[in-house]
Amino acid sequence: MTAIQLQSRLPRTYRIKAIKQETEMVRTFTFDGSLGAKPGQFVMVWMPGVDEVPMSVAEDDGAVTRITFFAVGDMTNEFAKLQVGDLAGLRGPFGTHYEWEPGQHIVLVAGGYGAAPMYFVAKETVGHGCTLEVIIGARSKEHLLFLKEMEALPHVSLHLATNDGSAGYKGFNVDILEKLLSSCPRPTKSQRGSSTREEKCLPIDQVFGCGPEMMLKRISEMCGKYEVPAQLSMERYMKCGYGLCGNCVIDPLGIRMCEEGPVVKNEVLLKLKEFGEYHRDDLGKKHRFDEKK
Ligand SMILES: Cc1cc2nc3c(=O)[nH]c(=O)nc-3n(C[C@H](O)[C@H](O)[C@H](O)COP(=O)(O)OP(=O)(O)OC[C@H]3O[C@@H](n4cnc5c(N)ncnc54)[C@H](O)[C@@H]3O)c2cc1C
Repeated sequence: MTAIQLQSRLPRTYRIKAIKQETEMVRTFTFDGSLGAKPGQFVMVWMPGVDEVPMSVAEDDGAVTRITFFAVGDMTNEFAKLQVGDLAGLRGPFGTHYEWEPGQHIVLVAGGYGAAPMYFVAKETVGHGCTLEVIIGARSKEHLLFLKEMEALPHVSLHLATNDGSAGYKGFNVDILEKLLSSCPRPTKSQRGSSTREEKCLPIDQVFGCGPEMMLKRISEMCGKYEVPAQLSMERYMKCGYGLCGNCVIDPLGIRMCEEGPVVKNEVLLKLKEFGEYHRDDLGKKHRFDEKK
């Protein structure tokens, strides 16, 4: 193991340089320092005496690292109390990241705090000449995240979906994905590279998704149906973050979501029988996604 790999497995303290209140329950912390994260990777965030939890990197520009989080429980509610100038422990970056080719036409689908890592992907991919359709969904207008940041990027067509219709399309973000996939299907193998096919729209090369698992399941099914490659970010209960504890292994392949995920290609997801069905808690106990809380 090299010194750099070992160092990323140990927490280092970073100072909070700025705080942005995104919505009532969502904040973005900007930490002074880079961890060298790529879009889709996560870090383990440590508050001594409280807990350590995984969080996606919302941006790492080589100088600062951003994390966007919901205050939902013990750790995140304590984390939300931190102020500019306070310190927190970060380990990482860990896991797989989104992969693309320069110049591709990519659809990004984001739900909840999934908009944060999708912004990181958007910023990097447009820098590589990609064009994007970005679909952001939320319960209602005030819960939509990263709109202004996405609008400020070049080569981005932004689509909004809210459950109550208070902004954009009334319904789910995946409904917009289905419209895009059906209105501009990917060329078949024989059509690829041929000039006989009339290009009425820009075919979609890939779909990237981050958000609730039932949303990811629908994206996976749609991309399978329209034969468009997809990369989706899976969440499982993570403890060590680097493949040692085995808490985030997934049935039946036994792959670890902290190492072989969180960003997983659709051809692998389609082999995971627990995808969209159940997940395990900190003790390894199964919970179905449709079980009553
Ligand atoms: C790869 C990955 C990336 C994530 N990125 C973000 C992000 O960018 N922003 C964000 O707000 N949240 C993110 N999460 C979820 C975040 O880890 C949980 O919200 C957080 O752990 C809640 O902890 P808590 O103590 O406040 O709440 P608790 O009350 O302890 O837990 C609330 C719920 O959070 C989940 N959770 C708790 N601990 C863990 C853990 N160690 N690993 C995985 N899930 C856990 C469980 O589903 C639990 O039911 C991510 C999770 C994973 C696995």
